Amino acid sequence: MTLIPAYIALGSNLRDPAAQVRAGFEALAMLPDTRLAAVSSLYLTAPVGHLDQPDFVNAVALIETALSPRVLLDELLAIERQFGRVRDVPNGPRTLDLDILLYGDTVHDDEALTLPHPRMHERAFVLVPLAEIAPDTMIPGRGRAGALAPDTDASGITKLDAP
Ligand code: AMP
Repeated sequence: MTLIPAYIALGSNLRDPAAQVRAGFEALAMLPDTRLAAVSSLYLTAPVGHLDQPDFVNAVALIETALSPRVLLDELLAIERQFGRVRDVPNGPRTLDLDILLYGDTVHDDEALTLPHPRMHERAFVLVPLAEIAPDTMIPGRGRAGALAPDTDASGITKLDAP
C-alpha cells in the first residue's frame, strides 16, 4: 500500500472550537487506510472575510493515506457533516471545517477539488501552523511553507497551549 503525505487544515469557531479541532484530529486518525503522522499546535485566529463572528481555532495535520484525493475529500466532507457543520453564511461560523491543503505534490483542478488549496499560500492561519510542522514543505508553484509564512499578516494569530 503506497501512502501519500497530505496536509489537512482544520478550523472551528463554534461549540468549544479547541475541543472540535482536537476531535477532528481523532476523526482523521480513524480514516480508513490512513495514518495520522503529525499535528500542529492550536492557534486562536481572528476571522477573515465575514468579521462579525467568533474567533477561530485553526491547526494543520499531516496524514499519510492510501485514499485517492477525491475519496479523501468525500471522507472529510462526511466528518464535517458528522460534526454538524451548517453551511449558510459564506466564510461564516462553522463547527468544523476541513480542507485538503496538499496531497503529495499533486496539482489538480476540477469543479470538486483544487490542489494545492487555492488560497492556502496567502492565509496566515494556514501557513503558520503548516510552517510549524513542515517548514520545508513545497507548495507547488508558490514556494516553501516556512518561507511564505512570514510574508502573511499573522497579527491576529495567537498560539494556544500544546495540542
Ligand atoms: P468550504 O465550504 O469553503 O470549505 O468549501 C468546501 C468545498 O470546496 C468542498 O465541497 C469542495 O468540493 C471544494 N474544494 C475545492 N478544493 C478543495 C480542497 N483542496 N479541500 C477541500 N475542499 C475543496
